[in-house]
This record gives sequence, C-alpha cells and structure tokens, in this order.
Amino acid sequence: MVEQLAPGLWRLNIPLVGNPLKNLNSFLITGERNLLIDTGFNQPACKEAMDTQLREIGADLGRTDIFMTHLHSDHTGLSTYLHRHGCAVFLSGTDAVRREEYSREEVWREKYASYVENGFTWEEMNWLWDSNPAKMEGPEPLGRGFDRLEDGAVLEYGGRKLRCILTPGHTPGHLCLYDAENETLFSGDHVLFHISPNICRWEGIPDALGDYLKSLDRVKELPVKLLLPAHRAETGNLRTRVEELKAHHARRLDDALRIVAEVPGLTAYEITGRMQWSIRARNWNEFPLTQKFFAVGEALAHLDWLEVRGGVTHRLENGKERYFPINEYKGVN
Ligand SMILES: [Zn+2]
Repeated sequence: MVEQLAPGLWRLNIPLVGNPLKNLNSFLITGERNLLIDTGFNQPACKEAMDTQLREIGADLGRTDIFMTHLHSDHTGLSTYLHRHGCAVFLSGTDAVRREEYSREEVWREKYASYVENGFTWEEMNWLWDSNPAKMEGPEPLGRGFDRLEDGAVLEYGGRKLRCILTPGHTPGHLCLYDAENETLFSGDHVLFHISPNICRWEGIPDALGDYLKSLDRVKELPVKLLLPAHRAETGNLRTRVEELKAHHARRLDDALRIVAEVPGLTAYEITGRMQWSIRARNWNEFPLTQKFFAVGEALAHLDWLEVRGGVTHRLENGKERYFPINEYKGVN
C-alpha cells in the first residue's frame, strides 16, 4: 500500500515474506527525475508489490534513479530489474565493491569456512549455501557497475537536496540520506525502531560494532522532524532511539563478556546460544538456521569489540576458534 508522506514523497510498503524484518520501506521522491530509495529482495512477492505501487503513483521508471542505502539484498535485490537505460543506480563505493564480490562463489566459501571455525558444522553451512537470502536474493549483475557515492555527496530530486552521510556499522559502506531543509532523515538500516539493526563481523573490518556506535554519533545531533527507517512502520525520536540502541549493545557486550568469563573456551556459536535474543524460538536449537547465521555474526562483532579493547582473546584449537577472558589468557602464558 502506497502512502504519501509529503508533496512528492511516497512510502512503498514491500513485504519480506517469511523474514523477521517483515517489510521494507522503499521511498520514492518524485520530480523532474525520480529517486527510488531501496528496492526489496529479488523475489516475486517483492517484485509484484513494487510494480503495483509504482503503477499507483504513476512513476515512470525511464526517469527514475535508484539509491540503495547499503548492499544487503533486501535493499538492492530489485535494482537491476527496475533499472532503465540512462538511469543511475547509486551505492556507496565501499558497499559497491563488496556487493560485486558477492557474485564470486569463493567469497562465500571463505565466509562459510570462517563460520565453521566459529562453531557451525559443515552440514549447517551446506544447507545455508542455497537458502541464505543474502546470497540468493540479490540483484542480477548490473553490467556497467554501480554509480558510486562517497560521504558528503549531494543528490537533488524533487526540489530536495539530499546529503549522503557515511554511517559504517550495519554494512561497511552504509549511507543515510539527509534533507536538512525539510529536516528529513532516510536512515536505512542504521536506525530502526522496534527492532535493532543487525551488526555483524565483516571480513577485513576489525571492529564493526565500534564503527557502528561512532556512526550513531554522526547522526544523533541532526535536526530531524521526519525520520524514515527502512523497515517497519514505527518511527520516533532520533536522539532517544540512538541512546536506546547504545544501551542495547552495552547490555549485549556485558552478556558476551560474562559468558566468556564463566565458561572459557567456548566457540562464538556456543556463546551466541547462551546470549539473550528476542526471537520467537524456545531455545537456541530451535533458531532457524539463517537466524543463527545472523546471530553468530552479531556475537562475533561484540566479541571483536571486546577483543580490540583487551577484554577477551581467541585462539584456534582443533579447527575451532575458542574465546577466553583476558586474565585466563595471561595465566596460560
Ligand atoms: Zn540491511
């Protein structure tokens, strides 16, 4: 269902069937040229919802550029399908490189091998191989590559000036779009309400959670009257939500540190199973496998944060990475 938020500004509600995120908010700014912000998965239900709602607005794809807040498939999946000759497909330079890497099987094989080192079995990983939406529901390759944006770039659509704010954390190159004149922030998955953005470990990034917390500070002070997150209908006050998200991660860090101290030598997978999660499953064994994958990624980001600050350490034992409190580690040496 399309909702008009302001003159020339629309929210399209794209269902994410079977996904705990439930929906994607895609935004359309109309004008001489249109800008479509985020797209939904490359999957029939998303396609149908997008087509129907664009038709309702009467948007002409022939003059619609596409902006993706970040590389995740629920944001980029339909970009190639919606792209028309002569239109731009914007993504940050950092995320563009990683999105393009996703089409290479060996990148996934390495990623999955590292998850096995962190406690998954190969059986679980083989099952995930063909069912992980991050891998399976992304866009078809866009022959000419993405139009890369950097921090501070300004786009102009429908009389609005939209400044790109680099907010690494949820992904290494996540961008928010800020319209200062209308005090409107398109926050992508950087700030969400009701659910907290998934912050996981990224290859080559030593401290994704630390980056995320710094990125919250990058947006916290902006004057914002209209805050538009990429998932769920809920929105609210930016500063309050930033403080809640910081408190959420502080609790999760405490949780991880306590578990490592209580039972030294666990894998990230085992630590994750002992952490508190708000998911509708009775216990860790009943977590759907894709959710286990994201939860372990998130636990790893918290363990990295602790490790960078000297709280925990890990070492490879019989093919598995095991975590120890730092005192224990010093004791061993
Ligand atoms: Zn995302």
